[in-house]
Amino acid sequence: TSESITDLLDRLCAIVPDYPQPGISFKDLTPVFADPVGLRRMVDELIAPFEGRFDIVAGLEARGFVLAAAAAYASGKGMLTIRKAGKLPREVYRDEYTLEYGSGCLEMHRDEIAPGTRVLILDDVLATGGTVGSAVRLVEMTGAVVAGIGVVLELDGLEGRAKLDGHEVVSLQLVH
Ligand code: AMP
Repeated sequence: TSESITDLLDRLCAIVPDYPQPGISFKDLTPVFADPVGLRRMVDELIAPFEGRFDIVAGLEARGFVLAAAAAYASGKGMLTIRKAGKLPREVYRDEYTLEYGSGCLEMHRDEIAPGTRVLILDDVLATGGTVGSAVRLVEMTGAVVAGIGVVLELDGLEGRAKLDGHEVVSLQLVH
C-alpha cells in the first residue's frame, strides 16, 4: 500500500469537538477499527517496532482491548486485560491515580503473568499519561517487565511521555 499510516489516520479518525466536555477535542478511532485496512495497518504498525521483544500484550479498557486483542492474535501471544476498578472477579493488583479532573483506578488480575514476562502495553490515545502510567505500575507490581508502550495517537503538549519515566513509547501520530 502507498498510503502512509498518518494519511490513513487523518482520513479515518473522527475528531469530535467539545466531547465529552467543552474544550476537549475527542479523537474517535472507531472508524479506524471499523475499516478492514485501517484496523490491520494500525495494529501491524504498533507491533512492528517491538517485534521479538515482548511475550504478552496488555490492553487498557476499553479501546485498548480492541488493539491488544488484535495485536496478541497477530503476533501469536496472549492478552492481559487491565480494567477499571470493580470489573475483575478474582484477586487483583490495584493502582489509583489522579487525572486533570478527579481520579481513576485500574486493576489487573494477580495470577496472569509470571515475573520477568515482557509486556507490551497498548492504548488508543496518550494524553496526560496518567492512564498508561497506572498500567505501567500495575505491570511492575507483578514483577513483570514493561517491554514498551504503543499508542495510536499522542496528544501534543501534554507531556504524557514524561510521566512514563524512560519507557519506550511508540505513537503512530502526534496530534493537537
Ligand atoms: P491520559 O490518562 O490523560 O493520558 O488519558 C488517556 C485516556 O483517556 C486514554 O485511555 C484515552 O482513551 C482517553 N483520552 C484522553 N484524551 C482523549 C482525547 N482527546 N480523545 C480521545 N480519547 C482521549
